[in-house]
This record gives sequence, structure tokens and C-alpha cells, in this order.
Amino acid sequence: MRFEDFDLQPEILRALNDLGYTEPTPIQEGTMDALLRDKDMVGQAQTGSGKTAAFMLPILDRIDPDSKDLQALVLCPTRELALQVADAARSFSKYLDNVSVVPVYGGAPIVEQITALNRGGQIVVGTPGRVLDLLRRGKMILSDCRMVVLDEADEMLSMGFIDDVRDILKRTPWGKQTALFSATMPDPIKKLAEEELHAPEFVKVASKEITVDTITQRVAYAEGRDKLELLERFMEEMKPPTMIIFARTKIGTQKLADDLKRRGHKVRALHGDMGQGARDSVMIAFRGKRIPILVATDVASRGLDVSHVTHVVNYDLPDEPEVYVHRIGRTGRVGREGFAISFVSNKEKPKLEAIEKLIKREIQRWGIDTPIPPLTPEQIALAEEIEAAEESGEVEEAIVDNPDAVADASTPGSTEPTAEGDAPRKRRRRRGGRGRGKGGESGEGGGGEASTGSEGAPEPVTAE
Ligand code: AMP
Repeated sequence: MRFEDFDLQPEILRALNDLGYTEPTPIQEGTMDALLRDKDMVGQAQTGSGKTAAFMLPILDRIDPDSKDLQALVLCPTRELALQVADAARSFSKYLDNVSVVPVYGGAPIVEQITALNRGGQIVVGTPGRVLDLLRRGKMILSDCRMVVLDEADEMLSMGFIDDVRDILKRTPWGKQTALFSATMPDPIKKLAEEELHAPEFVKVASKEITVDTITQRVAYAEGRDKLELLERFMEEMKPPTMIIFARTKIGTQKLADDLKRRGHKVRALHGDMGQGARDSVMIAFRGKRIPILVATDVASRGLDVSHVTHVVNYDLPDEPEVYVHRIGRTGRVGREGFAISFVSNKEKPKLEAIEKLIKREIQRWGIDTPIPPLTPEQIALAEEIEAAEESGEVEEAIVDNPDAVADASTPGSTEPTAEGDAPRKRRRRRGGRGRGKGGESGEGGGGEASTGSEGAPEPVTAE
């Protein structure tokens, strides 16, 4: 199947061509046709599956560029994901005239987002807390919203946003199209889909297809501090050009990063105890291939889309087996080879069993039978690029000297209406007209910088 087989506007196809998308991924193949036909949809797929394009291309295709009204709303669990989705929307719509995308999220000044909304954004991508805040202040109007997407619905549930999501949905017009994407389908998400979606079509892309098959997975057994020695041995042998090391707790993450730094490794920490500015700098540098290794908590790195990660280490196993799949999915993106290793203590063995049950396979031990793939020329170039950036000292300056060293006042619950709230403006519904634009740049809106916000989601502070 090819993108041309969907009846997409030529400007969108041209942008996809620029991005090098040749054929749709399974989730795109499974959902786009129904979405283009205005059907409600439940898509079970993870980050890395291409789900963003799966819902964004049908949205862009049906936006009326002659109307500045908000026509599509995408809700995401984190500001990081919201920015990522907005960026993707902008790159897909770069040849469409007069289509703009506005990201809105907590932890950043609301005033700028209101200004961007006032300029007119047909597509708003936002986190539930901030969207609700804007709605309550009367700064965002959903009366013309025809398409709603709940992205990573299970993450929104686990971060405590489900009531906000329901509240937002209540404010959207009857008869709109709703699409829900989720990596897992816990009961409350099923219930939400049953109650809020109208005769939805279901498409499931097994996580196995999208991540596990392209990733070599291994386990190694170690207790306590021995894990640090093991990690050093692993780094020595595998020479990972870019790697994320996941630890369970904020304190554990910082300590591990400090230990590794003391031993001369070029690593940076990423967790919720860092200020938003510091997190943003680390993320931008990692995304920009200027930092080789991140030590991160799950929450801080949520929604992080970096396609060049070659190795993932689970220094601690996550409590939920689904999180394991999510973590290792940071490598092996869109068919690339990836490598993931998990360090397992005796106490963690039940967690490993749960993971193996979920992925329906036994993970082999790391050892002599484990292939050490030679680095590809692309990976060697990547390692050299990162090294040069490190040696220049600019990365260190940007991160260490960041004054924003304490946890910021990012306020997921800042949904209180304010006294200054305007009454919603009356808007005239202008429908139809696919308004096939041509040429020129588009996609205006606020925000724009990559960031790692987790909207203050809970992270374990200490080990069990
Ligand atoms: P997502 O799951 O939406 O976060 O997408 C994961 C990655 O896959 C992103 O870097 C996308 O740019 C890329 N991607 C999405 N769809 C395609 C496609 N059809 N062909 C190639 N790359 C894609």
C-alpha cells in the first residue's frame, strides 16, 4: 500500500515525500481510511508505530483553511509529546496554505499560548490540564471542533488526567469525530472509548510487530552496586553511540548519573527533580545529538521521540511490564536495529517473568552468544559528531549553568478558572471546502522548543 492510495491532498503527499515516508506503517494503513471517512476509531499502538501521522494526516486533509476556527483538538499526556505532535503536524502541512497548529501545555506562560490561539489555530495540540484551563478562561472555543484525538490515552489515565479529558470532551460538539490511541487498553480506557466514541472501528498493532522484532533483547543478573560494574562492562564491550539508561527513581537516576560521571563517562541525568529549563536543555542536546548517554526516569523521558537511540539499558526493571516495551521502543525505531539489556536482581525476577509473559518470549542472557553488531558507518559518524560537540564544551555550559535548578512550578492541576476569564466569543460555523492550498509555508503557532515536561506527573522518589 502507498500513501497515494489514500485520497490525500497533493500538498500533503509532497510533504510526506520530503520526509522520506514511502509507505504507510501498519497503524497508518489500518486507521487512515476510516478516519478520512469521519469514523470514530480506537487504535492500539505505541510511540514509534507512526501513530502521529495516522491521525494527523486525516486531520490536515480535512481542515478548512478558509476558517480560522479551532477545528481539531489533540490531547496528549505530556508537553513533550504535544510539542512533538505539533512539530509533526507542521512538517506534514508545510505545503498547505493557511493551516496553523498551536501547542498548549502547562509549565510555560499561558499568555503566549493565548496570543497564539487568538491569532487562530485550526489545530490545537495540548495537555489536558492546560486545555481545560484555557477553556475555563474562555480563551479556547471548541464549538467548531470537528475532530478530537486522544493520544496515548493510557498515559493520560496513569498521569491522572482522565477526568480532565472527560471534562474537555463534554465541551466538544455532538457529532464530532473522536479517535483514541493507546498503547495498552486498561479497563478505564475501554470504558472511556465505549462511553465517548460512536461505533468506533478498532485497529490493533501488536507491540511485537513494532518494536520487539527489531530489537535484540538481553538480560544480565546483578545485585545492588554490582549493576554499576556490569554497566561499565556493557559500555566497554558494546560501545553504544547513543544510549538511554532507565532507572526507577529520581534519586537513583541522579546517583547513577553522578557515579558514571565520576568514572569519566559522558552522561546526563533527566528526571523530575530537575527544573524544567534544565530538563529542556538536556533534551534538546540529546535530541540534537550532542549528548551520547542519558540516565532517565520513565516519566521524564515520556513521549521522547529520538530516532537515533541505538541502545537501551534497564538499570532497574519497571513496575509495569508495558513500560518495559515502551522503554525498549526508544531504540529500534521504525525498523532500525536496536539493542536493549535489562539488569535484573533477585528481587526483580518476578518483574522479569511478567515482562516475558507480556512479550511472549524468554529473554536470553547477555553473554558470549550475544552478537556485538559492528557499528554502521552512520553510527560511527554519529559517535564522532557527539564527541566533537562534547569536546567543544558548549553542551556543558548550556546544561550545568542553567539556573533553573529546582523543580519548576509546572502545574498539571492548574485548571482553576481565573477571574479575568472572557466570555466565549460567538463563532460562526464554516464547514466543508477542503480548500486545497498550494505552495508556501504554514503552521504558525506558539511554543516550538523541544522540552521534556511531564506535567508534574508522579515519579517514585526512592527505591522501594
Ligand atoms: P510516531 O509513532 O508517530 O511517534 O512515529 C515514530 C517515527 O516514525 C517518527 O520519527 C516518524 O517520523 C516516523 N514515521 C512515521 N510514519 C512513517 C512512515 N510511514 N515511514 C517512515 N517513517 C515514518
